[in-house]
Amino acid sequence: MDFIPVNEPLLNGNEKKYLCECIDTGWISSEGPFVRQFEEKMSASVNRKYGIAVSNGTAALEVAMQALEIKEGDEVIMPTFTIISCAMAVTKLGAVPVLIDSDADTWNIDVNKIEEKITPKTKAIMIVHLYGLPVEVDEILALAKKYHLKVIEDAAEMHGQTYRGKPCGSFGDISTFSFYPNKHVTTGEGGMVVTDDEALAERCQMLRNLCFRKDVRYVHDEISDNYRFTNLQAAVGLAQLERLEEFVAKKREMGRFYTENLSDIKGIRLPVPKTEYADNIYWVYGIVLDKKGKLSNREAVKLLAAEGIGARTFFWCMHEQPVYQKQGMFAGQSFETAEYLARKGFYIPSGLALTKEQMEAVVERLRSVLTKC
Ligand SMILES: *Cc1c(COP(=O)(O)O)cnc(C)c1O
Repeated sequence: MDFIPVNEPLLNGNEKKYLCECIDTGWISSEGPFVRQFEEKMSASVNRKYGIAVSNGTAALEVAMQALEIKEGDEVIMPTFTIISCAMAVTKLGAVPVLIDSDADTWNIDVNKIEEKITPKTKAIMIVHLYGLPVEVDEILALAKKYHLKVIEDAAEMHGQTYRGKPCGSFGDISTFSFYPNKHVTTGEGGMVVTDDEALAERCQMLRNLCFRKDVRYVHDEISDNYRFTNLQAAVGLAQLERLEEFVAKKREMGRFYTENLSDIKGIRLPVPKTEYADNIYWVYGIVLDKKGKLSNREAVKLLAAEGIGARTFFWCMHEQPVYQKQGMFAGQSFETAEYLARKGFYIPSGLALTKEQMEAVVERLRSVLTKC
């Protein structure tokens, strides 16, 4: 069998049709009509009033942070185990990420360790739902209320997921999404900020477009970037969104299949299928090697590649990032669970285009690699 890629998106709905409409009408820029439609459908799907589409999920976090007026010296609480986009959105503003360890079962921020890190400088808590299970949102919202903090929710991996029946992307002051091809809804590259706050929404619109003054063009009171989203991206996004329910069902089926067929293998931990507040959506199917075993995730990924399986290591912790260490940030900090996940976790092919035959082959080859080690 051919190489099985770690991710391949499914683009066989109305994507082509809507893209042709863009070409036929000449609307390819961010001024095209699909952008607004996509913003409306996407924000409505998570019960938010406003959606502001941007060029990617990283840009969405940057725009959201800037919209919340996070400034130099402010502290923002977040997990250390996450993608660098989260930390970058904070450090680019001169603010300071205050890092928290992970929960060993859900791989999300350990909510019990947040309160002790709140100081008079703390301005916001960042919720980052990772790999398929949501964060314990209620606990964070309660802390935010008690200490008057802003909440930003990174729902990049959570299209179609709910927390206690409410959609991810609906919590806190502002939420962000990514439409990178490994997310449940893709536009190639793309992202969105969603919020219920009109003033925040207006600020996000300004921030995504160079902060042009509203009354006069080419005059600027503030610096931002060009984070615009094109009609071509929106065309693909609209077609993808039509199939979200089907995509989510497919992901859950994939998760069930892998769990059923891998649970007898010794020396690994599989994703928790459900918690009291959500069923896993398996953004990707993660596997964590036992602490005692000699194999690292980097070695496992190499061995799997040799067997024709695309796999990726988990995120690398923020406090261990060379770029931040060089600046003397997070010196002396360590987070046991997060460091363990970063060294022992990896994920296997989990894309929406994955076939049953491919999954069967993944199981077989993974089994042979892991039992040999
Ligand atoms: C993918 C992802 C992002 C970044 O999105 P891009 O579109 O790749 O910039 C941010 N946060 C999380 C949790 C993600 O998974």
